[in-house]
Amino acid sequence: MAKLTVSDLDLKGKKVLMRVDFNVPIKDGVIGNDNRIVAALPTIKYVSEHGGKAILLSHLGRIKKEEDKPGLSMRPVAERLSNLLNKPVTFVPTTEGKQLEDAIDGLNDGDVLVMENTRYEDVKNGENVKRESGNDPELGKYWASLGDVFVNDAFGTAHRSHASNVGIASNMGQTAAGFLMEKEIKFIGGAVDNPEHPFVAILGGAKVSDKIGVIDNLLAKADKILIGGGMTYTFYAAKGMKIGNSLVEKDKIDLAKEILDKAGDKLVLPTDSVVAEKFDNDAAHKTVDGDIPDGYMALDIGPKSIAEFEDVLKSAKTVVWNGPMGVFEMSNYAEGTLEIGKFLGTLTEAKTIVGGGDSTAAVQQLGVADKLSHISTGGGASLEYLEGKTLPGIAAISDK
Ligand code: AMP
Repeated sequence: MAKLTVSDLDLKGKKVLMRVDFNVPIKDGVIGNDNRIVAALPTIKYVSEHGGKAILLSHLGRIKKEEDKPGLSMRPVAERLSNLLNKPVTFVPTTEGKQLEDAIDGLNDGDVLVMENTRYEDVKNGENVKRESGNDPELGKYWASLGDVFVNDAFGTAHRSHASNVGIASNMGQTAAGFLMEKEIKFIGGAVDNPEHPFVAILGGAKVSDKIGVIDNLLAKADKILIGGGMTYTFYAAKGMKIGNSLVEKDKIDLAKEILDKAGDKLVLPTDSVVAEKFDNDAAHKTVDGDIPDGYMALDIGPKSIAEFEDVLKSAKTVVWNGPMGVFEMSNYAEGTLEIGKFLGTLTEAKTIVGGGDSTAAVQQLGVADKLSHISTGGGASLEYLEGKTLPGIAAISDK
């Protein structure tokens, strides 16, 4: 069933609790990159422009002890948000109590307030009590009592059941998705539940073990799964091919065999690889067909594989990509990842969806991100979504 979204809500004069993802890189109070704050602006502006009183909650980093708190305060984030919105933003340096409640009572329609880091609740009086990340029922109830409606726009934590997402939602009459969350549901949820065919998945990255759930789920839904990256060579080993010194998960070879048997020709492995003598950009390297020779490790898919993958992709109507095709951090082994990213940018007739930090970095580096249908904002969450799991943060959003 379709989920309620922020545009379905009557916001005028309402206290709108909003779970956003402001988990930005921060060091000594300086924000490294404000992409996530910028990404949250459309929903925040919408709420404010429609007369809601926006009360923003987010986690920032991990708090394990009292000393972690000062460096992970939300204050610099609130200041940056104020600059980006070009209007004052109230920052409340606490996560509960009179100061917070009074500040909320003092809000006018359209105002924006940022509460302190929700994970401050994980440590109380020096004790690691995990009230936020353990979804303490009292905490969710308390936060819910501060607002009239709840908007969850933090897809990055949707795979976690925390007080600031599931806890609030389960104590609130109405929970709606923000625009970012709505887009994740539309594209990733849409690809998993109701893809337009041909549906092609491209899965890369280091390990089979990280992607096994995704491969399993997508085998039932996709028309082809293209495999690249380090996990290729565990499949090679399962087929009895030579893998030289390539990355391999020995304890996953039997599992890889089972997948290959089950998948038939749905699973497409690279037919050639760029191999090197060492895990080093400057090591002697060459392209080989099939078996990886002794003394070499495979670090990228080869040009023939790139062409074969593109041939499968060109007629796709839905494409999901997660994980690099090689060690793309080193320029000599980046071609597979970059060429696939570039090619996705040319697929104007397909829904193209990219998830995972490395594939996202690749399409951003290539400047093709704006030619794709959707770049997911959540790494772990997007993988679990592709695995077909119910994400508690999404399940807790009200149906339309
Ligand atoms: P993941 O976090 O599982 O998506 O894996 C990403 C990492 O896999 C990147 O740091 C890549 O450098 C690495 N990787 C990709 N292909 C290979 C390969 N053929 N051998 C070793 N590492 C690889």
